[in-house]
Amino acid sequence: MEQQGTGFHQQGTEAVLRALTSGRSGLDNAEAEARLARFGPNRLPEQRPQSPVIRFLRQFHNILIYVLLAAASITFLLGHGLDTAVIVAVVLLNAVVGYVQEGKAARAISAIRHMLAPQATVIRDGKRLSIAGEHVVPGDIVLLDAGDRVPADLRLIKVHSLQIQEAILTGESVAVSKQTEPVAGDTLLAERDCMAFSGTTVTGGQGTGVAVATGQATEVGRISGMLTDVATLTTPLIEQMSELARWLTLLIGVVAGLILLYGYFVLQQPFAEVFMAVVGLSVAAIPEGLPAVLTITLAVGVQTMARRHAIVRRLPAIETVGSVSVICTDKTGTLTRNEMSVVSVVADRASYTVDDSGYAPFGTVRLNGEPVGSESVPAPLNMLVRSAALCNDAELSKQGQDWDVQGDPMEGALLALAGKVDEAPAELRQAWPRTDVIPFDTANRFMATLNHDHQGHGMVFLKGAPETVIGLCATQMGDDGEPVPLDASFWKQRSDTIAAQGQRVLAFACRQVPANKTVINLDDVTHEMVFVGIVGLMDPPREEAVKAVAECQAAGIRVKMITGDHASTASAIGGLIGLANHERTLTGAELDKLSDDALAVAAREVSVFARTSPEHKLRLVKALQSEGMTVAMTGDGVNDAPALRRADIGIAMGCKGTEAAKEVSDLVLADDNFASIVAAVREGRTVRDNIRKVIAWTLPTSSGEAFAIIVALLVGVALPVTPVQILWINFITTVSLGLALAFEPTSDNTMQRKPRPRNDPLIGAGVLWHIILVSLLFLCGVFGIYTFAIESGYTVELARTMAMNTLVALEIFYLFFIRNMDVRTLNWSMVRGTPVVWLAVVSVVIGQCVITYWPVAQAVFHTEALALVDVALVALVGVVLLVILEIEKQVRFRVRGDRP
Ligand code: ADP
Ligand code: MG
Repeated sequence: MEQQGTGFHQQGTEAVLRALTSGRSGLDNAEAEARLARFGPNRLPEQRPQSPVIRFLRQFHNILIYVLLAAASITFLLGHGLDTAVIVAVVLLNAVVGYVQEGKAARAISAIRHMLAPQATVIRDGKRLSIAGEHVVPGDIVLLDAGDRVPADLRLIKVHSLQIQEAILTGESVAVSKQTEPVAGDTLLAERDCMAFSGTTVTGGQGTGVAVATGQATEVGRISGMLTDVATLTTPLIEQMSELARWLTLLIGVVAGLILLYGYFVLQQPFAEVFMAVVGLSVAAIPEGLPAVLTITLAVGVQTMARRHAIVRRLPAIETVGSVSVICTDKTGTLTRNEMSVVSVVADRASYTVDDSGYAPFGTVRLNGEPVGSESVPAPLNMLVRSAALCNDAELSKQGQDWDVQGDPMEGALLALAGKVDEAPAELRQAWPRTDVIPFDTANRFMATLNHDHQGHGMVFLKGAPETVIGLCATQMGDDGEPVPLDASFWKQRSDTIAAQGQRVLAFACRQVPANKTVINLDDVTHEMVFVGIVGLMDPPREEAVKAVAECQAAGIRVKMITGDHASTASAIGGLIGLANHERTLTGAELDKLSDDALAVAAREVSVFARTSPEHKLRLVKALQSEGMTVAMTGDGVNDAPALRRADIGIAMGCKGTEAAKEVSDLVLADDNFASIVAAVREGRTVRDNIRKVIAWTLPTSSGEAFAIIVALLVGVALPVTPVQILWINFITTVSLGLALAFEPTSDNTMQRKPRPRNDPLIGAGVLWHIILVSLLFLCGVFGIYTFAIESGYTVELARTMAMNTLVALEIFYLFFIRNMDVRTLNWSMVRGTPVVWLAVVSVVIGQCVITYWPVAQAVFHTEALALVDVALVALVGVVLLVILEIEKQVRFRVRGDRP
């Protein structure tokens, strides 16, 4: 790969442009591709994944494995070579399965990370393009906007109040202002203010720069040389479970030691026998598979969410998202489609309607139903569309039959409007090149540009929220194009009427300025603007959003709309979407007047918040949290970051969201769609249910097996199941039956339950009671069958084979019970199972057949073939268990209400 140049900070912008690219229209595509091949992709090498050998060896780093290996050596010393071989085989198999599953989970999660690769906006061939950040090459002209992550090291050639936070390079968290003049060669990195460095964040303003270094040649590449961000596979819950597993192991170790002493010294049993029994006990009781199965449950959840367009950025979020009790969402693009079209225009006193034709820049504008001819466009309408086209950053392009927008869809709709009034936007922009801009910002709620025509006339064009624009004007444009006094109440009333129909209202104003004026700042638009008119834009609600809102209501989740739009617009859209209580709105200004306590009350009741700024989002999150709710909050801009960070689940928009918002979020919506949030909640609840199921299946079966051994030892009877058999059962059932629960689908009532509190314990009284009950039932089943077999005159081997198979049958039937433990009614889907469940059951049954009937296995495990009636008896015991547990569940539901 070729070396990239340095020292561009000392050179003038023209020199840099000449050296690296072909002028302001950027590279052409062929050249860009050639450079990509020459300089390589614009990314830092990822940390090399752990070598497979190490990953495999790590599978042995586990207390249970140590116990087993110790047991293997002792059995070997005692001369039980066969048992040693079995133990070693199981240890190896266990490691292989663990290795494969862990690899799968890790791959699932890293695949999702790649979906979050950042984009960059560049100019190539004179056109604005959005490309993958990896494809930026030296010489590319890169556009920067508030919230962007700078994709490469750039020499800035144009800035508008550009502010960049460079903490990752300089450690300084205060954003620095950028400019375009060259600086001395030996200037410190932190002071090279004509440069924007890869990996830093734009906190405000806009800028354009030429990429001078990419990939590892960038400053950040030089420092770190590596992406340190490796996917971790853990969450607080998994940590907790691993911790629990460690404690259990310790406890079991102590119990096992005591039993060993008791059996050997008090009961005077032969050491080898007691020792093997104690090993079996430990194997049975230690829930070694639990953390692994839980990790897989999470990975399955992450994958399902990604399929539903919700990408998990921080793994713990998957646990929290299921307990969300209120979703605060943006309106534009999330609840609505963000496909805008101008449907009404008011200029001077005349109200126009516009025929819908998508983003196509031609069509008809009507006054009282009559088309407005291109020769007879009144001056105010003409000025309105001129402002609309010039105070605008979007571009329209034809893709096949349809017209498409690059940039903000609302601005695209304005360009289409200009085309309809016969002002070709592209020609207008050529005639009136832009000299400066004040970008739109949610706090100001307007955008302004300064343009000059080739005769040297200067104009400021302004567009923004009507209240804001009215406040900046003293006059309005009359029919003849001359300013007349502003009729503020007329415009207010008109905007309200349009807004009440659910349209987004935008107002326009302009002003002549001297030719020599080349910069504008806020002072230039605070007075003397001439009001030219308003437009109403329709942005239809998403159909899926309507359904998703209804689903939330059934699931006890409140939905709040938080928007910068007008209260009437917001309320009308809220009605279309089906928001509860949408008639009551609270505006940012009203919100500012409320104390924190009053806000907490209001935030509960009101579902539409209008004319808000990002700071309001933060206050709302805090207010809702103070009411004990688990809050999901969406956002897209840099200023939304604090609210996203504070929310229990911060959700960033994948399409229109900035990198700054994505970086602090827990979830990213690939399609910006509200319905995807609800899908994520549903999946989060499913994951949580499945985690409970995995735990509720694993712990009782482990303790059931363990108790059978303990009782046999303490009572001094022969073991109903040999330690080696226990080892086998444990192995085969955890990798099949336990794992199957990780793949359980969402159950029908998942979204009909109230949200569960976040700190709801997973192992509550319910699970504890189950551990006791199921252990006892297992005990009865296993000893019952064993005793029955011995009484019937069977050999000990045959009786043990029956007992072992009974244990497996009990685990299978218990699995079916667990699958349905939250649903009161018995139904078919429970018995029918899923392919995954049947796959697990069939593998276990095949495994058991092999152990029971294959002569070689019979020799190793000391088993004997079962007669068909005995097999039926074993199955019957399983059925009886299921019936008892179902009856117990029905009683419990009746006594304690709807949840176990
Ligand atoms: P939303 O919550 O719907 O995304 P925004 O904060 O984007 O709301 O916009 C709030 C208001 O600011 C809009 O109702 C509109 O009047 C105005 N506005 C939005 N975008 C622009 C823009 N690009 N230029 C000028 N004004 C805008
Ligand atoms: Mg917006």
